[in-house]
Amino acid sequence: MNDYHIGVDLGGTHLRAALVDTRDGQVVTSLKEPTFAYEGHQAVMERMVSLIRSVLEVSGIPIDRIGGIGVGVPGTPDLKTGDVKFLPNLPGNWRDVPLARFLNQKLALPVFLLNDVRCVALAEWRFGAGRGVQNMACYAIGTGIGGGLVLNGKLHLGIDGTAGELGHQVVELNGLPCGCGGRGCLEMYASGPAIAAMGIKFVLQGHTTRIGELVDFKIEKITAATITAAAREGDPIALTIFQQAGSYLGIAVSSVIVAISPQKVVFGGGVAEAGEILLAPVRKTIQERVHMVPLDKVQLVWAELGNNAGLVGAAYWPVVCSQV
Ligand SMILES: [Zn+2]
Repeated sequence: MNDYHIGVDLGGTHLRAALVDTRDGQVVTSLKEPTFAYEGHQAVMERMVSLIRSVLEVSGIPIDRIGGIGVGVPGTPDLKTGDVKFLPNLPGNWRDVPLARFLNQKLALPVFLLNDVRCVALAEWRFGAGRGVQNMACYAIGTGIGGGLVLNGKLHLGIDGTAGELGHQVVELNGLPCGCGGRGCLEMYASGPAIAAMGIKFVLQGHTTRIGELVDFKIEKITAATITAAAREGDPIALTIFQQAGSYLGIAVSSVIVAISPQKVVFGGGVAEAGEILLAPVRKTIQERVHMVPLDKVQLVWAELGNNAGLVGAAYWPVVCSQV
């Protein structure tokens, strides 16, 4: 087995590629450039190839020491063919695009695709906050809420790789319609935009809160980070918002805990930077709701790999695939 692999992250704003030592998860070289998704999939794929070539060149590691390429995509790829089936949040026509085949033809390395948040879960389990446990759930809370599950020491993929969509756990009966086609999904109540929207509503309703002051009452500038900043100053409205978002997250996490009885639940993504402000109501909700699993054996922890998690997990994915 080669010790080095390439990880690629196809993001909405940035295309990132890294050469990773997959023995310890260390990033040797990483580069990024704008995705320019509006140019269409062909242009993006060509740019991906040159970015990978640049990473190889900068790292100085010869291509014959590279075991393969893993690509994290913001959607559900066909794990068998390596085709991108549908990327709902990326402009351009990404339906049935043979991405793995294209990269393989250009770079002569085996290529494996995986959902981008499953890459994060895989990296945190193998090299980060979830090291050493058999069962783990991972929540990546940002613009959306992504997730991933590790069961019995293995990334759990389910039918066609669709398992682990923890942002679409239903937390509200007859709740808000969600982009996934369902309603009442966690993502509608605890994602960055959901938290920001609650803040905007309070400001528009004329409540006295730091949230409006922090953005000079330019409400379009209110983000989840604004609510976090206000909450850190002790603003009661901001704390109420996190109380509510954290309670919804706690309901979802309670369901996951009773379903898989994990040793660790890992939280990452921009919203998780709120820290204990978010996690305190999660803990409280779990304590109230979960009685069938010994909670003293379930740790709630922060993701450790930060922005590199997706790249490291993508790079490690070919290793997992070659073990099968
Ligand atoms: Zn949904």
